[in-house]
Amino acid sequence: MIDPFGREITYLRVSVTDRCDFRCVYCMSEDMTFLPKAELLTLEELDRLCGAFVGLGVRKLRLTGGEPLVRRNVMWLVRSLGERLGGGALDELTLTTNGSQLRRFAGELYECGVRRVNVSLDTLDAEKFLAITRWGKFEKVMDGIAAAKEAGLRVKINTVALKGVNEDEFDDLIRWCGDEGFDLTFIETMPMGDIDGDRTEQYLPLSMVRARLMERWTFTDIDYKTGGPARYVEVGETGGRLGFITPLTHNFCESCNRVRITCTGMLYMCLGQNDSADLRAPLRASESDERLIEAIDEAIGRKPKGHDFVIDRRHNRPSVARHMSVTGG
Ligand code: SAM
Ligand code: SF4
Repeated sequence: MIDPFGREITYLRVSVTDRCDFRCVYCMSEDMTFLPKAELLTLEELDRLCGAFVGLGVRKLRLTGGEPLVRRNVMWLVRSLGERLGGGALDELTLTTNGSQLRRFAGELYECGVRRVNVSLDTLDAEKFLAITRWGKFEKVMDGIAAAKEAGLRVKINTVALKGVNEDEFDDLIRWCGDEGFDLTFIETMPMGDIDGDRTEQYLPLSMVRARLMERWTFTDIDYKTGGPARYVEVGETGGRLGFITPLTHNFCESCNRVRITCTGMLYMCLGQNDSADLRAPLRASESDERLIEAIDEAIGRKPKGHDFVIDRRHNRPSVARHMSVTGG
């Protein structure tokens, strides 16, 4: 699949549910309305949809959400997708999780062929963790991360940079990840969906963070790529890798290789735009994939050049109305 700007689409992110056991302040409001369960694709349908994308050239699948590990029976899907690994078409199956269910599932994930997981963790302070996630249990997540490591999964920690909330902890996070052997990525907050608070209050440009960190740490730019949008440095003092995802301060769209599907089968060609294509109807219309493939091809032909996220006081409205938990980040 090649889009109108010559970018090859090889990476599919699949939001398997929009539901979550946390209510992170930058992601959701406390009283979220979720999609009616009747609208969800079944796990079999998600499997078939992913299979069609793999047939069209997708080499990397990431399950996300909401919280992917709270969808009932999700391991059936992981197992089935895992069977596509090793055949020469699919290179990697991975997931992004809040870590709350990792103690239960880490071993099985490994068995199914998953080798890396991204775990979102914004703080190492239990009280702050509760304030950020509203409903999360810090000890359970830390134990889940330990379980992932024990199971042999490589862990990358994703930390959303929040002004006045966790900016005093970046050094500790770099040190801790270095000690544990985890990669770490800092992410700028993106203006997606209404939340209870004010995003201009939360937004912290990573260009500033990076400059401040460089007063204390030695960073060497490296060419490490995971298929995602992070730019990596190696931290001299820990030997660890540190990534920066900067949708606002530095546009990364030129090298975008990704599209996303939601748990209802909507295909979003860009995280930061509203255009989408319904794949549920062609999926359900017939048992053959012909119409589905046509719909995917047509949609890829409309992939936009890039997003235009802005956060400042004049733009205090979300750039896109849907929450990150719908398209999964
Ligand atoms: N529940 C899982 C988790 O938290 O890892 C997967 C889904 S979550 C939507 C995926 C990632 O998006 C997480 O790392 C989260 O911190 C990040 N995220 C959510 N809302 C965001 C926002 N408005 N701006 C930037 N990152 C956001
Ligand atoms: Fe849930 Fe992940 Fe959103 Fe937090 S960031 S509310 S864990 S989906």
